[in-house]
Amino acid sequence: MSKPVVAIVGRPNVGKSTLFNVLAGEMISIVKDTPGVTRDRIYADVDWLDRDFTLIDTGGIEPDSSDIILSQMREQAQIAIDTADVIIFITDVKQGLVDSDSKVADMLRRSGKPVVLVVNKVDNFDKYMADVYEFYNLGIGDPVPISAASRLGLGDMLDAVIAHFPEWDPSEEDDDRPRIAIVGKPNVGKSSIVNRLLGENRVIVSNIAGTTRDAIDTEIVHNGKEYIFIDTAGLRRKNKIKEELERYSIIRTVSAVERADVVLMVIDATEGVTEQDAKIAGIAHERGKGVIIVVNKWDAIEKNDKTMKEYEGKIRQVLSYMPYAEIMYVSALTGQRLPKLYDMIDMVIENQTLRIATGVLNEIMTEAVAMQQPPSDKGKRLKLYYITQVAVKPPTFVIFVNDKELMHFSYTRYLENKIREAFGFRGTSLKFFIRERK
Ligand code: GDP
Ligand code: GDP
Repeated sequence: MSKPVVAIVGRPNVGKSTLFNVLAGEMISIVKDTPGVTRDRIYADVDWLDRDFTLIDTGGIEPDSSDIILSQMREQAQIAIDTADVIIFITDVKQGLVDSDSKVADMLRRSGKPVVLVVNKVDNFDKYMADVYEFYNLGIGDPVPISAASRLGLGDMLDAVIAHFPEWDPSEEDDDRPRIAIVGKPNVGKSSIVNRLLGENRVIVSNIAGTTRDAIDTEIVHNGKEYIFIDTAGLRRKNKIKEELERYSIIRTVSAVERADVVLMVIDATEGVTEQDAKIAGIAHERGKGVIIVVNKWDAIEKNDKTMKEYEGKIRQVLSYMPYAEIMYVSALTGQRLPKLYDMIDMVIENQTLRIATGVLNEIMTEAVAMQQPPSDKGKRLKLYYITQVAVKPPTFVIFVNDKELMHFSYTRYLENKIREAFGFRGTSLKFFIRERK
């Protein structure tokens, strides 16, 4: 089941960032190997009572001029309405109920999205509770008092959030149609690719069951097989400053990637691969999705026999954290190589769901250890006891060792390479957990 998305909306200074950071907790260390993605934390993974969700801070309002705050808040609320399953609308007991709160509350109510109304800075429940009742006037349900700074009331708030999550839907679980998110900067050709793929195929545009999001997904039947394309194109908003636009497109990307099996990361051949591409691709990497890098507009550049190699070199350098990603060179304009995308998608999904028998894995590990001695520190050598695959999508392995501290990143990487030599796993990341066995 895809992970629910929860968005935080509220005026400047009510405590959105504080709440986000408290809930995001340890997140930073998990993604530190994905450059560019951690710098501005717009989204984080949160785990509450075994329910995982992705938290989004729609933030980004500059509290400099009060007349534009409302329009920015509306914008922010719209992003949340478009992308989230549940919205946390946060207000401030110290500032009390403000006119723009009411306007945004109206907008949220009309959207029909589940909203949890949170009143922050209730640092003392006895003292401030009377002021909290005022927020019933917003007409969007019971206000939940919290203090983000003192971590009060967060459990009740999260319970209220989780209560709105879509029910587990067995029909969604049975739905094995591949879901493909098409992501990339504006103008790289995402819509053109979808349109071109649609060209010769039957089309059904459908709202996929089991999600409360509004996204319209496109079903394409190719060779009798159904594929669902999740398109993040058409998200362009006019008159937006660059930072806001980027934030918006990242939020849309996170929400699309979350629901996908495979991500088509589209790059514009005429521009080459950029830092912003790295940031977008990092979202797919962190979430363990299958990744195909689609270099589009291949028709529009001058080529010789070295061009492809040179492109690959640059991509591998900028996206160095995902050496497993497949690369394809296509043109939405001429249709060049686009039909091959389906084979590639099939292959990547097969690899994402591949299960390797424990016996075979341990043979490979034993052989790898014999070929390259595990690291040691202060006279103690790493011992590897056992490896087993515990999950798919992405394939996830647990390695039992004598001492976790001795397991260097580079040795895990070495083992990963050995496993890839044997089974390929092209197009998918692999996850490793190291456990101690006494
Ligand atoms: P944002 O603009 O909505 O992201 O708000 P911030 O998270 O930056 O918080 C604005 C101010 O409110 C900061 O000075 C925070 O320290 C303060 N703040 C946040 N949460 C609480 C709280 O629970 N109690 C109190 N008293 N102050 C808080
Ligand atoms: P999106 O914003 O990523 O959805 O990009 P669009 O699909 O709207 O394409 C942006 C621009 O690039 C349009 O003017 C397209 O005609 C052009 N374009 C898209 N694909 C190709 C391609 O393969 N070759 C060339 N030469 N132009 C393309």
